[in-house]
Amino acid sequence: MITSMKPYRDALGLVNGQLLVDGAWSDSQSGETWTHLHPATGEDVAQFAVAGADDVDRAVRAARKAFDEGPWPRSRAKDRIKVLRRTADLVREHGDELLRLQALDNSVPLTFSTTYAMSMECVADIFDHHAGWIDKLGGETLPGFQGGDHMVLTLREPIGVVAAIVAWNAPLLLAAQKLAPALAAGCTVVLKPSELATFAVLRLVRLLEEAGLPEGVLNVVTGPGNPTGDALINHPMVDKISFTGSRETGRRVLAAANAGFKRVSLELGGKSPAIVFADADVYTAGAVTMGTVALGVSGQACIAQTRAIVHRDVYEEFLMVAMGMTSMINYGDPFDEETTASPLISAKQVERVLNYVDLGHQEGARLVCGGAKPDGPGNFVLPTIFADVNNDMRVAREEIFGPILCVVPFSDEEEAIRLANDTEYGLGATVYTNDVKRAMRMARGIRAGTIGVNGYQLEPHAPFGGYGQSGMGREGGRTAIEAYTEVKTVLIPTTDELM
Ligand code: NAD
Repeated sequence: MITSMKPYRDALGLVNGQLLVDGAWSDSQSGETWTHLHPATGEDVAQFAVAGADDVDRAVRAARKAFDEGPWPRSRAKDRIKVLRRTADLVREHGDELLRLQALDNSVPLTFSTTYAMSMECVADIFDHHAGWIDKLGGETLPGFQGGDHMVLTLREPIGVVAAIVAWNAPLLLAAQKLAPALAAGCTVVLKPSELATFAVLRLVRLLEEAGLPEGVLNVVTGPGNPTGDALINHPMVDKISFTGSRETGRRVLAAANAGFKRVSLELGGKSPAIVFADADVYTAGAVTMGTVALGVSGQACIAQTRAIVHRDVYEEFLMVAMGMTSMINYGDPFDEETTASPLISAKQVERVLNYVDLGHQEGARLVCGGAKPDGPGNFVLPTIFADVNNDMRVAREEIFGPILCVVPFSDEEEAIRLANDTEYGLGATVYTNDVKRAMRMARGIRAGTIGVNGYQLEPHAPFGGYGQSGMGREGGRTAIEAYTEVKTVLIPTTDELM
């Protein structure tokens, strides 16, 4: 039973959100604000400033000045390491508060933080991991190609001003995956959190300030895509856009980057398959797959395994297990330790998900369970399974972002690979089998950024990102931090002869 979020808000001392420009927190110049409605109760929780084009301009100029003239890009590795490690410590220290703020933002239940990817330990580890790269981020010394009379060096330099824009479903994790590598590389940043999950990110930014980040290095503009995001991606002083969100917004980001010759990285959506062979532990496969679709964020995760491709011999068994998982779903107050799943983020998203339920019916899929909104307040939708899905159906092809699992049958390995790859996306896939050789063949055959074998785990040091329309670039590991650098070549003659 959910009553009100306001006592939690008051206990946390949540105050209205402001913009951070050049080290000073303030309202927007126009005074315009956004009222945050909590997805579990629909009540207004707090307000934050909507940054207009003039606020965004001030924020980008502050980041530009901090990059061109300030100490951060020129600082010693030792000093940057210290700030990132201190941030990691502060995130661990304030983990409970950050999770509570996140629950006020998007209603992800506190119980879900036992999953590593949703824990503050993971967010802290992301800062620690990138701190470890700072003194190893170097160039190369190459032999002279045409003779030994000159040296060829490459330097890695910070890319400049980064516009970092993130989605709402895991706001702290997503913000950390951009802030940590950008700051580690020596860039300055203008961060735009999602208008649907702003408050936890603002607290994280205050922790970065407390950790010793110089003024102007990190600026924050809050507000929706229009006007805030739009002004940011089109600002001529931005050197790189790092974006996490939907494919549709990703297209706009790509167009803006294209027009301004900005560097860009995109972490977009997915329709990730879980492929279950007859020799697999079907219980684990069914439980984990349905868990990613219905527990925690209720399928509103880019990595949710929403397309189960299941061998005909274990098809009914898989359905039974997945259906059994629905008994673990408890909706309600995200602060309650009995709550295991979140509402959908908005009433609009509920409507969209229920439209997909209608579409599944029309396309001839068999509804096994769910498919409706339960009685009562909040943006909840019952965990839903469609069986006998054909991979040509729209429910099997489009990212729904809600608790709907589509189950597609297959007969042999070749067909499983063909079905897995028959998608415009390519973010992740999981293969369930006890045959290690088959697991390796599948890992090679599937075109996706991450392949899990008999499970799926996020690792802060492992590159994460998508093939196809799931994105461009990777977050985590050397690839991620290098994406915030430019390579400069320096040619040095070692004799007085003209080269
Ligand atoms: P969204 O695209 O609606 O919004 C993402 C961010 O972009 C928000 O901050 C939003 O305000 C901003 N934005 C919207 N319009 C803009 C514009 N015109 N210019 C600039 N910025 C704009 O996505 P969402 O609903 O917040 O998130 C859900 C999507 O994100 C899903 O598709 C999900 O798969 C994807 N996602 C991907 C990953 C990943 O790592 N690949 C992680 C989380 C979420």
